[in-house]
Amino acid sequence: MATLSDRLDFVLGRKAAEPLEEHLGLRTCGDLVRYFPRKYSDAMSVRDEGEELDLEEGEHVTFVDVITEATLRYTNRQPKREFLVVTLGQRRPKVTATFFNAKYLKHSLVKGAKVMLSGEVGYFRGVMQLTHPAFLILRDDGTMKGTKSLSTIADAAGAAGTDVLAAFEKEYFPIYPATAKVQTWDIYACMRQMLAVLDPVPDPLPEWVVREHDLMSEDAALRAVHISEDTRERERAIERLTYDEAIGLQWGLVVRRHSELSGTGPAAAPRDDGLAAAMTAQLPFELTAGQRDVLDVISAELAGAHPMNRMLQGEVGSGKTVVALLAMLQMIDAGYQCALLAPTEVLAAQHAQSIRAMLGPLAMAGQLGGTDQATAVTLLTGSMSAQQKRDARREVAGGTSGIVIGTHALLQDAVEFENLGMVVVDEQHRFGVEQRDRLRAKAPEGITPHLLVMTATPIPRTVALTVYGDLETSTLRELPRGRQPITTTAIFVREKPTWLSRAWQRVVEEVGAGRQAYVVASRIDENDKPAKGGGRDAGQGGPPPVTVVQMFERLSNGPLAGLRLGLMHGRLAAEDKDAVMAAFRAGDIDVLVCTTVIEVGVDVPNATVMVVMDADRFGISQLHQLRGRIGRGQHPSLCLLATNLPETSKAGQRLRAVAGTLDGFALADLDLLERSEGDVLGLHQSGRAITLRFLSLALHREIIETAKELCEKVFDQDPQDPGMAVLSAPFVDADRVQYLDMS
Ligand code: ADP
Ligand code: MG
Repeated sequence: MATLSDRLDFVLGRKAAEPLEEHLGLRTCGDLVRYFPRKYSDAMSVRDEGEELDLEEGEHVTFVDVITEATLRYTNRQPKREFLVVTLGQRRPKVTATFFNAKYLKHSLVKGAKVMLSGEVGYFRGVMQLTHPAFLILRDDGTMKGTKSLSTIADAAGAAGTDVLAAFEKEYFPIYPATAKVQTWDIYACMRQMLAVLDPVPDPLPEWVVREHDLMSEDAALRAVHISEDTRERERAIERLTYDEAIGLQWGLVVRRHSELSGTGPAAAPRDDGLAAAMTAQLPFELTAGQRDVLDVISAELAGAHPMNRMLQGEVGSGKTVVALLAMLQMIDAGYQCALLAPTEVLAAQHAQSIRAMLGPLAMAGQLGGTDQATAVTLLTGSMSAQQKRDARREVAGGTSGIVIGTHALLQDAVEFENLGMVVVDEQHRFGVEQRDRLRAKAPEGITPHLLVMTATPIPRTVALTVYGDLETSTLRELPRGRQPITTTAIFVREKPTWLSRAWQRVVEEVGAGRQAYVVASRIDENDKPAKGGGRDAGQGGPPPVTVVQMFERLSNGPLAGLRLGLMHGRLAAEDKDAVMAAFRAGDIDVLVCTTVIEVGVDVPNATVMVVMDADRFGISQLHQLRGRIGRGQHPSLCLLATNLPETSKAGQRLRAVAGTLDGFALADLDLLERSEGDVLGLHQSGRAITLRFLSLALHREIIETAKELCEKVFDQDPQDPGMAVLSAPFVDADRVQYLDMS
């Protein structure tokens, strides 16, 4: 009678359909059927009794519970007005609701009545209170009484000949994400009415997939998830919808992967008489076994006719840059240019400097002392003068520079390459797929350059599969020999204030021994919002986080007086940043007081201590990243995570986890558990957040892996499979998904 593409006003009538469209954006039966319950209330309450009610003021919430207390009160001001305060269930902390038209309600909202209340959370003297929420009284005899919105629905239902009231005569309710204008019971009533007339929904998955994985049919799942009273059946429905989501996400990635594989790559066979060989011969160290293995794989891919799509993961200091450099030289030996995209100017400049230093005469094309086969390294960043940029662009367009290093400035149209063959993206999570594609598009007609994405953020397997599903992954697990371990300690400043003084002493001692230190603060100054990478409880109960400016003052005039301090943060002018970084690198600054601008890739092997202030403000992975700035030389290093929160707090436990292991992958998994999918998956091109309703990257690794295999199989059979297109529609932009690092 009705199909998914039918408009809701035809099925429900205008009166009922209009609010759904206006407030929830639901236009068709398909939209509505995929508007899923947030949870189910079969135990009388939406929120379980024991559940922490950490609801924020203004949040919309629904409770189903029994009124345990109903009291009439009077307002203080004249004329005195009667109002009704009801208490719900036995909850601790207490939940109350206040109604002002008590005269009419005091006879229905009585002690013992079972009600559904829906409204905005407010707090009055610390007690949660819904002020004049929408309500529905659920009577044993099946009759009910409630706010006006319900009668609208009942009217519409009556017109369609459905007994809407019967829908509520049971112990269980799905709870929908609702608004003040469209209550969860309105949605539920419309849902039942629509499902009653909806034709069987065709299954988007091939029949063999459903059978092989023993899945519920799409039609059954879409109905059960809304109206089944059987818990087991709802679980099966949710399992099926979780698969749908995983498959939808993977399909786009599989399609993208195949389209890239079919392109033409710039084949660059390795040579033993070129720059790569010369560089290998002049390396001041031996490559680790891990580096050699990765390089072998990359080298073979560069020589092939398909474009490489590879991500190189490795902890900070694991030696990714050398690997990338040798790969780029193989391309240059075959006559191609390479672009290295860095997320910040500091990093771009640092890469240019260290790559030039490593190459030595090999990078001095046309200069005195350069070798015959030498190439040139060109830096191009936004803050360079117009003249400098023009010169750089000329070198790039003319083909003189083999390695072009830059920030976003490289993406501009004005930048043209003579023969781009490889794109290296450092610290990928700061760049979208779109941006790396823009750079890749600067290659000669018909050629798709090889792509190497380097990231120091250990990426959990499920994230790699979904967010980077179009890339193959290589991992450097060992650090180059001779590295000293980092000891990490959490300092609970309130409980052990002397530890912080001891920390500053340690900094003084290290500097006395010729080492250097970082002191990290979570924000620049009072105008700067505190970082909130640490999760919901970050900083809760503590004083506002110290600013980097305050810290610089305090330390220079206090515990670190006499040391050479430098101040570094994102709002300094580019040349000031460069100057401070250069001074720190040269050892002219002992202690760098900074924000997380130093997080990514900064390499000063002589730095051996890091003190992170208000460490609770940072996420697990972020702290691990920060810590990677030390422990890069031959000296043992010390990382101190200071917080004003108690050891027993969630944040305290997080800091202890970071202190307890140096395994970035273990920490990344922990981090993923703490974060919502919305934080992990980025935005659609439209700016809308990509939402997953059932799939969890932290919990559903097996489903995600199965979905990937499945999609490959289906793609082999039919790359245009219409059902798969349906499932991937919500993620059509999924190849733009980014792994958001919360910094
Ligand atoms: P990443 O980019 O992974 O953070 P880098 O490539 O910058 O790491 O390497 C960090 C430091 O280790 C650099 O100073 C680099 O020269 C050095 N390094 C790299 N590979 C080795 C190796 N095999 N043996 C010794 N030192 C190495
Ligand atoms: Mg690096």
